[in-house]
This record gives sequence, structure tokens and C-alpha cells, in this order.
Amino acid sequence: MKPAPFVHHAPRTVAEAVAVLAEVGHDGKVLAGGQSLIPILNMRLASPAHLVDINQVSGLADVVVSDTEVRVGALVRHAQLEHHAQAYAALPLLRQALVCVAHPVIRNRGTTVGSIAHADAAGEMPAMLALTDGVVEAVSASGSREIAVADFFLGALETSLAPEELAVAVRFRRFAAGTGTAFMERARRHGDYAMAGVAAAVRTTDGVVADARLSFVSVTDVPRTLDVTSVFAGLEPAAVDWSAAGDLVRDSIDPEGDIHATAEYRAMLAAELARLTLTEAAASSVAPQPVPHDTEGPAA
Ligand SMILES: Cc1cc2nc3c(=O)[nH]c(=O)nc-3n(C[C@H](O)[C@H](O)[C@H](O)COP(=O)(O)OP(=O)(O)OC[C@H]3O[C@@H](n4cnc5c(N)ncnc54)[C@H](O)[C@@H]3O)c2cc1C
Repeated sequence: MKPAPFVHHAPRTVAEAVAVLAEVGHDGKVLAGGQSLIPILNMRLASPAHLVDINQVSGLADVVVSDTEVRVGALVRHAQLEHHAQAYAALPLLRQALVCVAHPVIRNRGTTVGSIAHADAAGEMPAMLALTDGVVEAVSASGSREIAVADFFLGALETSLAPEELAVAVRFRRFAAGTGTAFMERARRHGDYAMAGVAAAVRTTDGVVADARLSFVSVTDVPRTLDVTSVFAGLEPAAVDWSAAGDLVRDSIDPEGDIHATAEYRAMLAAELARLTLTEAAASSVAPQPVPHDTEGPAA
């Protein structure tokens, strides 16, 4: 199928982009990598009269790593972030999850910010923003604001971004020293959206667990975190039976069944993935992941 007719806008600056968004309001849609939006247009699930294509906008394609955050601009492709050595060293969790996003060709084009703006709870990057307690930077013709992740995701494919706002960047907060992370998911075929996925972050201090938190893919309506610290605090990571998190996980998620997996199966999978990711994150909290000698750039 072909999309309904639309006017294509190709702004060169953020100011030009938000001026068009202000003018067209609800009739407009931002086009970033197009990996989610174009199929939606082709299937005519949406038919905006105006597409504001941000691919020529300057200043949006940088990854900036600071002592506290990894800032990802709106035109950073998944692959660019996946292969960014400094970002990996600062926040290994991002690459751990990015390698599970679709296939390399989709990661070469799709943007991390677009994935978060799309707000699909089956997407990996919304769950990463949740676990890192991240922030979305939004700009409109009338100013700019920062939206904490807790206020960003409102429902399935729904965020608190206004139609006239452009998300110019997201900032993933770095974890405290002594934190290990892990991400795992299970899909019917490699590259498919996951039946369930879990990210874990475990911090140890003085040889015992100080913090343990999870976030989820495909088993909640909006990206959500679960703090399981109270169950495990003060225990030695190697001696912990992490399966004790399973009941908490089942109580905190609300998976839906579909042709790929029943709701019960997704819940069982999430509980088991929680055990596995907590185990791996705890191990890497005491023996940090090595920093690879990698280059930036798209995947082959
Ligand atoms: C076959 C296939 C498999 C996939 N599998 C996965 C998967 O396993 N996991 C996963 O997470 N994703 C998957 N994706 C989606 C992929 O990650 C997309 O790249 C991503 O969801 C959207 O990013 P995009 O840059 O392509 O955004 P677009 O498709 O351009 O836009 C998506 C939505 O976000 C809005 N938007 C985009 N950027 C901005 C912005 N800066 N400000 C405001 N609004 C914005 C758009 O208006 C649109 O509503 C898959 C896609 C395909 C085609």
C-alpha cells in the first residue's frame, strides 16, 4: 500500500522544524528514521497531512558522554549508539539492549530518540530510559523543557510530547560505581519484537548488594521499573537466590496474550529472565565488563 498524500517539509534547523510543527499542529508528524512511521503510513493507520522530516536538521546527530549521563541526539541511529565505544564504557546496558533491536539494517536507519518517541512498550530503548531514570529534552516554538521518564510515557504509543514539540535528545543517566547491568529477551525469531525482555541493574558495595532494579519489555503497558532491593540488600551477590524476585515480577507486570505467546507464558518468561539478568548483573557488579576497542559507525 501507499501512504495518503502529505506535504513533505525538510527543515535545516531545530528552529525551522518547530516553526513548522507549530503551524501544522495535530496535522503534522515528525519523520526521523521512518522505520516505524513509514509502515504506519503505508498501512494508512495514520494519515498526517504534513511530515516534518528532521533528517537534514543540523546539530542532532551527536552522542555526548559526561560523568553523569549519555546524551543521545535525535538523529543518532541505533547503530551509531551501539558502536559508540565511549557510550559503551559509560553505560554498557545500552549496547546490551541495542543488539536486540530488530536487525542491523533497521538499526542503521532507526533512531534511538525516535524509538522512545514512538513509545512502544515492546521496544527496548524505552525500557532503557526507564531503568536509567532518563530524561527527554523537548523543544517547541515557545521554548524548551525536560521531561522525566516517569512523566513521559502515558500509554501504548502515547507520550506527553505535544504535537508541536520536537524531542531533540534523550539523556540516559549513568549508574553509580559498582553497578553491573544485563539485558535479555526471548523472541520467536532473532530480530522480532520480544515476547518478553528484562533489564537488570545491581549495585554492590563492600561485597554485598546495595541496589537491585529491573525494567521490562513487552509485558507492561508502559515502560516500568521494579525495585527489588528490599529482598536482596545486604546479601553477597554470589550467594543470592535471585529467583526470589519472580513473585515480585509477576505481581508488577500485566502482559497481554497474542498469537506469539499467552499472557501466562510471558509472565513466566519475565520472571525467569529476571532471575537470569539479576544473576548476570550481580556478577558484573563485582567484575566489571571489559571496555572493547571499538569504532563508531554503522553496523555492517
Ligand atoms: C521489521 C522491523 C522490526 C523492528 N523491530 C524492533 C525491535 O525489535 N525493537 C524495537 O525497539 N524497535 C523495532 N523496530 C522499530 C525501530 O526500532 C524504529 O527505528 C524505532 O521504533 C523508531 O525510530 P525511527 O527513527 O525509525 O522513528 P520514525 O519511524 O521516524 O518515527 C516513529 C514515531 O516517533 C515520532 N518521532 C520520531 N522522532 C521524533 C522526535 N525526534 N521528536 C518527536 N517525535 C518523533 C514520529 O513522529 C513517529 O510517530 C522495528 C522496525 C521494523 C521495520
